[in-house]
Amino acid sequence: MVKYDTILIRFGELSTKGKNRKDFINRLFRNIKDMLKDYPNLSYRKAYDRIYIKMTDEDPDVISAKLQKVFGISSFSFTEKVASDIDTIAETCLRIAKESDKKTFKMMTKRHDKSFPMRSDAVNRECASRILKNTELKVDVHDPELLIRVEIHRDETYITSGKIPGAGGFPAGINGKVLLMLSGGIDSPVAAYQLMKRGLEVEAVHYASPPYTSENARRKVLDLAAMVSEYQGKMKVHVVNFTDIQLKIYEKAGDPYAVTLMRRMMFRLAERIAEENGCLAIGTGESIGQVASQTLESIACINSVIHTPVLRPLICMDKIEIIDMARHIGTYETSILPYEDCCTIFDPKNPVTKPTTKKSEYYEAKFDFASMLDEAVASKETVVVRPQKDEEDFL
Ligand code: ATP
Ligand code: MG
Repeated sequence: MVKYDTILIRFGELSTKGKNRKDFINRLFRNIKDMLKDYPNLSYRKAYDRIYIKMTDEDPDVISAKLQKVFGISSFSFTEKVASDIDTIAETCLRIAKESDKKTFKMMTKRHDKSFPMRSDAVNRECASRILKNTELKVDVHDPELLIRVEIHRDETYITSGKIPGAGGFPAGINGKVLLMLSGGIDSPVAAYQLMKRGLEVEAVHYASPPYTSENARRKVLDLAAMVSEYQGKMKVHVVNFTDIQLKIYEKAGDPYAVTLMRRMMFRLAERIAEENGCLAIGTGESIGQVASQTLESIACINSVIHTPVLRPLICMDKIEIIDMARHIGTYETSILPYEDCCTIFDPKNPVTKPTTKKSEYYEAKFDFASMLDEAVASKETVVVRPQKDEEDFL
């Protein structure tokens, strides 16, 4: 059985220097430890451009799957520990070459223990000739597909090969906080993932309309939040009761403008909750042209009620691409569960696709929405979800 000793984590070229670089590495270090907190026997070391994790008897496949979810890692490799004996070293290199699907390779040996009877060049030659004799691989010293690094110490030798791609991006949370409007649909959980990937800490707001929306629908949203929370550790979700506002809109405005008005109210509420919670931007899962409320005219009319920046990571993605990504992050199956959403219940037959601010304001003047917004914000419920769904703290 292969004995893995160390995981070498790369975070690639950082454009940032000085304090930013330090913050990046420190946050990444914390996020990695947090992701692997169920494995207390791992030990960690930070170096200038690498992080090393020493393993004991953990399952490398499980650790690898977890590390692939940590933003800020560009790639990582597992190092095998073998005896410092040329035959064992060469056989291990041969096994690695055979297991790879690459066509070219290069050996790179470093001798830390100068008492080892062969020089680095000779070790390279011995390993390479075994690989050349027993596989189809060819040597390419300039641009090898497979680089096998051998580091010889007195009692043991470390052999590193193969790079597992990391999730890229910035360590979650390093770039500030955003309040994401989270529905139970396919898009907004994907938006959460994209925002987190750029180092933003995501807090969520969900608008529920009980009793028209059920407890199951609410549960589904919290489940989705819990799933994406794995990428940043945990997530705060503010659940806002939207029923009265929604009913009032239907009473005062009726069909074509209902969605526009609802969304203007959602944005106003989001802005207030964002301000209360130190979020400098609002996020949504909108994608241009997808539905009536996502035409450019609708977006402009809805967006004009607030001044907080709105981040829309999916704005130019096709539905197919969004679905692929939802599958990749594991939220798709939950998103398509058929529970009602506040927008589907009051589904208007004829939503306006080119709403105007003037008309919206005309309807909004018909009721005292400001006090309804105050009431909705004051009565919101805040829940902290974590990757393990069962643990939930009510604030
Ligand atoms: P999704 O798949 O994310 O539900 P959608 O295609 O159904 O999106 P809309 O219903 O128009 O599109 O919603 C657009 C965006 O508005 C969503 O991505 C989400 O950010 C936000 N949103 C919609 N409904 C709600 C809700 N009930 N609570 C919070 N945010 C919502
Ligand atoms: Mg929706």
